[in-house]
Amino acid sequence: MFEHLNEQPKDKILALMQAFKDDPREDKIDLGVGVYKNAEGVTPIMRAVKQAERQWWEQETTKAYTGLAGDPAFSDAMIGLVLGDAVARDQVAAVATPGGTGAVRQAFDLIRMANPSARVFVSDPTWPNHLSILKHMAIETVMYRYFDAESGGVDFAGMMEDLGQMRAGDVVLLHGCCHNPTGANLTGPEWQAVIDLVNAKGVVPMIDIAYQGFGDGLEADAAATRMVASGCPEVLIAASCSKNFGIYRERTGLLMAVAQERGLHAVTQGNLAYLNRQNYSFPPDHGARMVSLVLTDDALRVDWQAELEDVRNGMLALREQLSSELRRLSGSDRYGFIAQHRGMFSRLGLSPEIVERLRAEHGIYMVGDSRINIAGLNRDTVPKLAQAIIEVGA
Ligand code: PMP
Repeated sequence: MFEHLNEQPKDKILALMQAFKDDPREDKIDLGVGVYKNAEGVTPIMRAVKQAERQWWEQETTKAYTGLAGDPAFSDAMIGLVLGDAVARDQVAAVATPGGTGAVRQAFDLIRMANPSARVFVSDPTWPNHLSILKHMAIETVMYRYFDAESGGVDFAGMMEDLGQMRAGDVVLLHGCCHNPTGANLTGPEWQAVIDLVNAKGVVPMIDIAYQGFGDGLEADAAATRMVASGCPEVLIAASCSKNFGIYRERTGLLMAVAQERGLHAVTQGNLAYLNRQNYSFPPDHGARMVSLVLTDDALRVDWQAELEDVRNGMLALREQLSSELRRLSGSDRYGFIAQHRGMFSRLGLSPEIVERLRAEHGIYMVGDSRINIAGLNRDTVPKLAQAIIEVGA
């Protein structure tokens, strides 16, 4: 039977990682894969997570299964982190999932179960895995305009025009903060306009929030998600702990389904648990346990927030530096948007040819659509990148 299998397309970002590894140049720069790295190029274990692991190792007495929805303490802590007091706890059904990807996948599964004819509207561009999972699940996908390559900002008029085609029962996928891959985000009033449109059309918003704390801070980054959660009758939210807790390989995420109508809670919770059961039974526990320990212990939480703030401010400083270096070298504000963008990524708006020249001539690796991982830079490599961008005539 295996002879009937077709080759799957290679994951471009993973292929880029391999090409970087194989490149012998010592001054090569990796701006590809979406993993935070400090100035030394290391993805550290956060102090509070390490401490929680030590404590848990002492306390843990069993590795028997948790519940299908995962440990309730994890759901409670994450609902608090993402939603604050925007909605009441009994309005939120939630299950732990293997990473944010697991939450996205389970959300799509729930959508398909609830409304097989729902179309999912996604931003152009979006995280490529959104598209490939939707395709794999044969869910009809519609792209809406999002990025304006000229300004480096959001093409909000184009976005709203395209969202005008949504029908009742459709789903619109939005990035809660720190849009991947562009780094360009909606303003508060723009979010409100999207909420009004979604409600007028009877569309369900789905929020993917994978970088809370990487943009303007934990609270500010959750503001849009909270507005949507309290402003729409039903909302799906896929949250990842990979980045803000630095626990990528532990596979820790939470899917939340918020409904204003209290009577829907039990059936939604039951369906989320059912989906976990069908797909992998119990979700991973270790990362989720670390997250709930960090979030519920005052000292650990304070330390985690401080370290996360350092990470965030470090990336903001690199944005400022790159933007001003490019201003100095080009004599224009063409790259001013880099300082306006938020999160780990910026899409520079360079052609694939220029991206290839940066790789071949300068050993600078970025994704083909010119997305750079800001955390792949440090104070010393920023001038090199700026110089290279000018030299290739971008
Ligand atoms: N959504 C977006 C937009 C992402 O960028 C990522 C990570 N690349 C995820 C979800 C999921 O990440 P993970 O499964 O590693 O938690």
